[in-house]
Amino acid sequence: MSDAPELPPPRYEQVGNWQHLICDEQEWLARPASWGISKLPDTQGANKQTIFNAHYFGWKAGFIACAECRAQVRRAFADDTIGFDETVLDAWNVEAPHPECDGRPFRRTARNWQRGLVTQPEAFNGFVRELHELFEDLSRAEKTTRIHHLRKAKDRELALELVGPNPFRPITFDPAWRTDTAVAIARQMYESRKFGAMPILADALQDAGCDSEPILNHCRDPHAAHVRGCWVCDLVLAAEPE
Ligand SMILES: [Zn+2]
Ligand SMILES: [Zn+2]
Repeated sequence: MSDAPELPPPRYEQVGNWQHLICDEQEWLARPASWGISKLPDTQGANKQTIFNAHYFGWKAGFIACAECRAQVRRAFADDTIGFDETVLDAWNVEAPHPECDGRPFRRTARNWQRGLVTQPEAFNGFVRELHELFEDLSRAEKTTRIHHLRKAKDRELALELVGPNPFRPITFDPAWRTDTAVAIARQMYESRKFGAMPILADALQDAGCDSEPILNHCRDPHAAHVRGCWVCDLVLAAEPE
């Protein structure tokens, strides 16, 4: 991509036999990605990782060509409070024949789960690995970098939504902005998983004196795809500091 902006290249450090990406502020500003969740200063990191998994793996499952397998794998990742629902595997009739099925590895994992051969984390790991391999196969079949870029773009989009603009410089949220109205709007959006009221939340915050451009811009961005774990909603709903 010759028109890509000039960005500092990723840097690596040797850890044992491996080269690990150096995940610092420079790397985040160049390429925001889901590792940023682990840099959050609060205790919400684990919760946000669960939400990230549910959306990212559910999105990847949409690339499974077989309609039956696609629906089942999506269902397994549909609940953003748990990230992976292995009870979906219990109900899956994996013996039914699938013509032209590209979901055999997922059905194999589901069958192993039903037979008690794998644990819940192993079933989760199996699905994640199979989604990864599906994407490798798609990339090879296309002989282009399109799939690679789609995957990176989705990772980046979810990271920016859950982490915010910069995990190394948390945005200050004045408790005075946390009015009953703002809290009620944010809570209603969380419970319904419908985020159409984000611009109204911006108005409520502004009425309370909020002048933070990153916060107001995030609420009013017509292209933002908000999910539970949205960094602005979390600031509004956060317990007041001691
Ligand atoms: Zn299938
Ligand atoms: Zn958001």
